[in-house]
Parts: sequence; C-alpha cells; structure tokens
Amino acid sequence: MADQRLNYVNGEWTESRTGETFETTDPASPEEVIATYPQSDAEDAEQAIEAARDASDDWGSTPGPERGRILAKTGSILDERKDELTELLVREEGKTRSEAGGEVQRAIDIFHYYGSKASDIGGTVKSSSARDTNLYTKTEPLGVAGLITPWNYPIAIPAWKIAPALAAGNAVVIKPASLAPGVVHEMADALEEAGLPAGVLNVVTGPGSEVGGTIASHEAVDAISFTGSTAVGNTVYDAATEDGKRVQLEMGGKNPTVVSDSANVEEAADIVANGAFGVTGQACTAASRAIVHEDVYDEFVDAVVDRADAIDHGHGLDDPGMGPHVSESELESTLEYVDIAQEEGATLECGGSALDREGYFVEPAVFSDVDSEMRIAQEEVFGPVLAIIPVSSYDEAIHVANDVDYGLSASVVTDDHTEANRFVEEVDAGVVKINEKTTGLELHVPFGGMKASSSETYREQGDAGLDFYSITKTVYDN
Ligand code: NAD
Repeated sequence: MADQRLNYVNGEWTESRTGETFETTDPASPEEVIATYPQSDAEDAEQAIEAARDASDDWGSTPGPERGRILAKTGSILDERKDELTELLVREEGKTRSEAGGEVQRAIDIFHYYGSKASDIGGTVKSSSARDTNLYTKTEPLGVAGLITPWNYPIAIPAWKIAPALAAGNAVVIKPASLAPGVVHEMADALEEAGLPAGVLNVVTGPGSEVGGTIASHEAVDAISFTGSTAVGNTVYDAATEDGKRVQLEMGGKNPTVVSDSANVEEAADIVANGAFGVTGQACTAASRAIVHEDVYDEFVDAVVDRADAIDHGHGLDDPGMGPHVSESELESTLEYVDIAQEEGATLECGGSALDREGYFVEPAVFSDVDSEMRIAQEEVFGPVLAIIPVSSYDEAIHVANDVDYGLSASVVTDDHTEANRFVEEVDAGVVKINEKTTGLELHVPFGGMKASSSETYREQGDAGLDFYSITKTVYDN
C-alpha cells in the first residue's frame, strides 16, 4: 500500500483544499506506486506563506544557539533514519544505494554544519574612528524564504537551502519537485521532532507553475532560492524581482573537462567517466563535454568507451553501477539527443539505447567527432551522454570550454602546472577543478555558477549560504 503523504502547514499535516492527489512511482519498476501527495493549488501555497509570515518574528528573535540546537538535533534524527531515507530516495528518484546514501549523509552533515554556525550569527564589533562611538554590525533574518527545488538531489538541495535559512532566523515555505518529494517530508518530520516551532517550516506539493509560481510572486515572501532548469529559473526570477525580492538561482550546466596532451590518459578517462555517468548523468555539474588534445584523442576515446561498457544496470537498492532515469520523459529526452547527435554527424562509439527491461534505463553513450557547434555540445542533456570534442591546442581547448551559454563547473586534467593555473584564470565557471571530476561539492565552501547557470550575486553553501538569508545593519552608537 502506497504512503499517503500530506502538506505540512503551520505545524499540521494537512490535505490540500483541492482534495486532489498525485502519485510517485519507482523509476526502476514504474508500475509500483511509492506514495501519493496533495496536488495543491495557489490557495494552499498562500496559507503556507501566511503561516510562515506569522511564525517568522518569533523564530527570528529565538537565540542563535537555540536555533542551532534544533538543527543539530535534526541532523542526529536524520542520521538515525539514514537507511530508511536512503531507501525512500532510491525508490522515488532511482539513484543507486551508494549514491543515495551519500546524498542522505550530505543532508545530515549540512544540518550539523549550520547547527554549529547558528551561534555565531549576529554581527561583529568594529573599532570606530570616533572615541566615544560603539560601531558594530548587526545581522538580521530577511523574514520568509521561499524555496523551490528539483528532483535530482531531492534531499541534499532542500537541506542546503532549509538549514541556512533556518539558522539565519527565517521562516520557510518549500515546494519540492513532484517526482521525488518524500525525503523533504521526512526532513520536516525530523525538524518537528527536534523542536522546530509550528509555522517555521512549511511544505507544499503540487504543480510548479501554480504552487511554485505563487511562492515566487507572493508579496509576503522576502527571498526566493531556486534550483532547477534555466528556463524555469528565468521565469521565477522575473516573478520574484517584480516586487524586489532577493533571488538566488542555481540552474543548468554544460560542464567541460579539458584533457591536455600532458595528461595521464587512464586517469583522465576515470575522471571523465565518473563525472559523466555518475547519478545516471542527472547532475547539474555532470561532465557532458570532454575537450581532448588530438595527440591523446583516440587513446582517450577508447579508454572512456571501456569504462562506459563496464557499467552494469539494476534497481538502485541492489547498488548497481547505474540506476535508471528518473522518469519516462527524461529517458525520452536522452534518447532524442542521441538521435540528434547522430543526425548532426557525431560518431556514436557506444551505448545510447534504452535497455530492454522494465524501468527507464539507458546505456551510457559516448560520442566522438563532436564539433562545438553541435547541439550535443551546447545543450544540457541531463543523462549519461558524453560528447568528446577534439582540439589541436590548449588555447583552443579553453576557447571551446567557454563557448557555451552555461558556466557551472569545469575541470582540467593536466600534468602541467602552468596549464592548470591558466585554466583557473580563464575558464568561465563558478566551480573549477584540477585533476578532479566536475561533480562533487564540499558543503563549507561557496557553490554557484556563471552565465546562464546562476544568478552570480548570491552563492549557496558555507558562509555564503548564510549571507543570502541575512541582512546586515551597521550601527553607530554614540
Ligand atoms: P525544473 O526547472 O523543471 O523544476 C525545478 C522546480 O521548479 C520544481 O520544483 C518545479 O516544480 C518548479 N517549477 C516548475 N515550473 C515553475 C514555475 N513556473 N514557477 C515556479 N516553480 C516552477 O527542474 P528539474 O527538472 O526538477 O531539475 C533538473 C534541472 O535542475 C536541470 O536543468 C539541472 O541542471 C538543474 N539543477 C541545477 C543545480 C544547480 O545547483 N545549478 C542542481 C541540480 C539541478
């Protein structure tokens, strides 16, 4: 029997006023319904926003150490439930058990991290040039934060928004993605058990345009943090900035790994294959382009094909090399890009077909002879598809790396320190890695992109994550 889940508004688990529901299913076994959720409407979202508004003053004046204690306790409760959270994540989203377990652990770590930070929020005393003036900064919460999140990291991304928003003293309304909302419900449950007062966190599920759209445009919401596609992010930005809200956007990527002629080719193939095929290529930071010097090109293509061919598929709970796509439409979209790439003249070296079995499985695909102008080299595929572009110089490699609309993560594999330094200086990306895959982030340093990947003004994670949810007053007290 599928779980029947509810919205969480003002500390109560409640049905939508529409009375309608939608289902989540297992992407590895689509006949299996995992849970039903309220198909909420704009009025449900408004009630959640009002609850957050009513709770925000009291939470904002709750001492930082007390807020921190609740967040840290939430981390401990999530830790106790790690196995069941991991299984729920696998069943709704399709990741392998190892990938999902790593993601749940990240959420746990984030709550402990911001739990420990909450005591230090408040401001700093400065020395004034006037003898009798006390000069200090005072940090205050913004009020109500609206969070809109995607399905591909359904617990880590909500955690890296909810925890700093609450640590900084804001009340929150979150609309999780409809394909995998269950782990956000579990997080709300853990926060409630840890002692979070009613109304401080509210969770509403339903259609993006209606529930997300209401949160993005509502006058009682002070800040919007959105992660998702660039197309939706731009719509959210327009709605949110109409009344001057603070906005944080984390969107798509077309992340390159440059492979220099000085690289160890086997090492480069490991780095690129892990970055391209991990989490079924469904990461905003996935390596979707390898830009490879012609002297090592053929050897590199063969080495990556070997790694792609070695990947086994299966239900995520059995911890195979690769789980399914999250949905039929994501699978269809990947297959369509495989067709487009071949029509444009790229060579399919391996993979690219749906598996002849139940579930939304696809073989990882490797394309050679890719030109930077092709759609496969320009557009986000969001599947396990790698485009390998040959170049004849390091200058050309950097030019190609930057020759896309996006600028999220970029890596270089090189044995030459001068090349590595040039890459850091010249590549258009918010995350730059040397001899590492494009995926994988640490939680205590800023994360964000450039160009169409992000709004460049605000970063997430680390101290930057807290800055987004806070405003600073400078006080001169004579
Ligand atoms: P999406 O843009 O379709 O949806 C994201 C969220 O926005 C969902 O909760 C959705 O319901 C909601 N939404 C949809 N229409 C809306 C509207 N009109 N107004 C307000 N909200 C609306 O993205 P997705 O398919 O869930 O996730 C995949 C995308 O997310 C990829 O493009 C990926 O690159 C991106 N992503 C980016 C990062 C990052 O940090 N840069 C991280 C993960 C995923």
